[in-house]
Amino acid sequence: MTFILGLTGGIGSGKSAASQWFENQGIQVVDADIVAREVVEKGQPALTQIRNTFGDWVLLENGELNRSALREQIFKDPSARKQLEDITHPTIRTSIVAQLNASTSPYVILVSPLLFETNQHELTNRTLLIDASEELQIHRASKRDGQNIEQIQKIILAQMSRSKKQALANDTLLNDGHLDHLYEQLKALHLKYLAQSELS
Ligand code: ADP
Repeated sequence: MTFILGLTGGIGSGKSAASQWFENQGIQVVDADIVAREVVEKGQPALTQIRNTFGDWVLLENGELNRSALREQIFKDPSARKQLEDITHPTIRTSIVAQLNASTSPYVILVSPLLFETNQHELTNRTLLIDASEELQIHRASKRDGQNIEQIQKIILAQMSRSKKQALANDTLLNDGHLDHLYEQLKALHLKYLAQSELS
């Protein structure tokens, strides 16, 4: 069995920077966000189920998912969110498992901003939290996306709190310095995961 590391962190914490570093070391990365987008692409069974459940208004004229309309609806109506998740989560999980099983690197990473919230950590052997203060998260995310501070604060509030994630994660990396400092800490963890993957 391949050793699976779950990688998570709030918006702007440095998850993508960490994933990229692991990929550069030859470690394969499965990105839950990408899978979540793939399962609702045109022609996918989950998209048909979404249309059958919510109605034609969830589709754009070209047949693709109208993300903003659906987002607005589930924001207003928690039961709609539950219905959507009941459709998409099992499909996302199946696809993630297939991709993890197909990996050929010494260990494999599942990166997901909602690793704990969606119980995807159950699929992993160990979890690593990339952690940063809210000030740093806001600074980095606004610089990267050009989003305003209120939007980023809203996203942070909707995500699981730092302290809860710290309590759940096996390893926590505080990404509060330069990128070189991030990479140094990742290197030590990478060596540990390589050793653990040999034992598993
Ligand atoms: P996430 O994927 O967790 O939302 P990213 O990895 O995209 O976060 O990081 C957010 C932004 O901050 C990116 O532009 C990234 O290059 C930058 N960044 C991440 N860590 C550091 C760091 N230690 N020092 C400087 N910039 C960083």
